[in-house]
Amino acid sequence: MSSSPLVVTDVTIVGGGIAGLWLANLLCARGYNVTLFERGGVGGEQTLASQGMIHGGLKYALSGNLTKSSEAIAKMPVRWRECLAGRGEIDLRALAPLSERYYLFAEASTFGQLTSFFASKSLRGRVKKLKPTDYPPAFAEFTGVVYELDDFVLDTSALLRELLEPIADRVLHHDFDPKTCFLGNRAVGTPVRLHIGNARIETDRLILCAGTATQSLLDDLKIPSPTMQLRPLHQVIVRHAYPHPLYAHCLTRIRRAEPRLTITSHRDGDGWLWYLGGQLATRGVDKSTEELSLHARDELEECVPWINWAEARFSTLRVDRAEPKQESGQRPDEAFAQTCGNCIVCWPTKLSLVPDLGDRVVELLDPPRHAAQVSFGLSSANVAPFPWRM
Ligand SMILES: Cc1cc2nc3c(=O)[nH]c(=O)nc-3n(C[C@H](O)[C@H](O)[C@H](O)COP(=O)(O)OP(=O)(O)OC[C@H]3O[C@@H](n4cnc5c(N)ncnc54)[C@H](O)[C@@H]3O)c2cc1C
Repeated sequence: MSSSPLVVTDVTIVGGGIAGLWLANLLCARGYNVTLFERGGVGGEQTLASQGMIHGGLKYALSGNLTKSSEAIAKMPVRWRECLAGRGEIDLRALAPLSERYYLFAEASTFGQLTSFFASKSLRGRVKKLKPTDYPPAFAEFTGVVYELDDFVLDTSALLRELLEPIADRVLHHDFDPKTCFLGNRAVGTPVRLHIGNARIETDRLILCAGTATQSLLDDLKIPSPTMQLRPLHQVIVRHAYPHPLYAHCLTRIRRAEPRLTITSHRDGDGWLWYLGGQLATRGVDKSTEELSLHARDELEECVPWINWAEARFSTLRVDRAEPKQESGQRPDEAFAQTCGNCIVCWPTKLSLVPDLGDRVVELLDPPRHAAQVSFGLSSANVAPFPWRM
């Protein structure tokens, strides 16, 4: 009787969202022998449902305070721009941003004290008040104030395709089952043993990047810590005939330090659909699709009154953000990677923070040991469709 082949690898990654794909590229470039398992379409859970903003966290400082943790995310737009210019850790020269800039807008009276905060030395170079003649086309008829941020927006599908292309033979379509995974004595240096179809794999490190599914993997693998928190969102998709895309936070008459609407635009046939997050989505989790659609129409009529919303069509999308559990239940401001013996558990917590995640994981790994890449007969995973195309 022939025994099943043994494949020896440095790293096995579970989950092909932005975290898994970024890490796989980073580690392959550093000589690690990497295999990634994705159970569905690449990016098909949080990553393609995200708004694609690469931001420096200014939207979290609308109370007028920059915290220490908001400094970590502030560096991310520059890190990503380096990648887009071909000078970063991942070569993204072929990727054109959906929008080179992101904006803040509101009726003039809203800004109040924020005006001096935005003009302060601590925000130099990160936010700039625009003259009306410099407003992007979607604001041509807007009479309020527009600020330009140093943030930008990526087409997440194009981003995932760019990351998948050089390593497609290592990104395999397979539902990783923790019951077929043996951690041995769990210590660093003890190989993790996996049974995948006909093959047996021995891998030095198992990296969990499974997003919302990570907690159940941790439970099944009997890893008690870290634990996960979910923060639900109820996003709104608006189809309309307005010809210009808009990428902006609306702050008109906000009463809490969170944008009232966070708007991105995405190609939809010959036109654009607008994808709405912000307070609308966080506070919309208790609303039904019908209630939230009506509310979104009211919000757009009030915040973006220069567009006629009568013919617009609304739909909604429920999606959870997965993060490491915080004592306060608040949002974490940094990427998360923690060693648990021969496993590493990751949540980027934001698309923007994936370069930070990469730094942390590289720090946690020993040098690569297994040069040869061995194939074991599974097909490659493909990029999933955007949730609004399904
Ligand atoms: C509505 C929304 C808007 C957002 N907007 C932004 C934004 O504009 N900017 C920003 O910086 N961040 C944003 N975020 C956050 C960002 O999208 C996430 O932090 C990031 O996409 C998480 O990536 P991930 O790879 O960890 O998870 P996911 O993208 O969820 O990937 C996890 C993958 O693991 C796979 N998987 C799970 N279990 C298994 C298994 N057993 N075997 C194999 N595969 C498995 C899943 O199929 C999935 O593809 C947003 C999030 C949401 C929900």
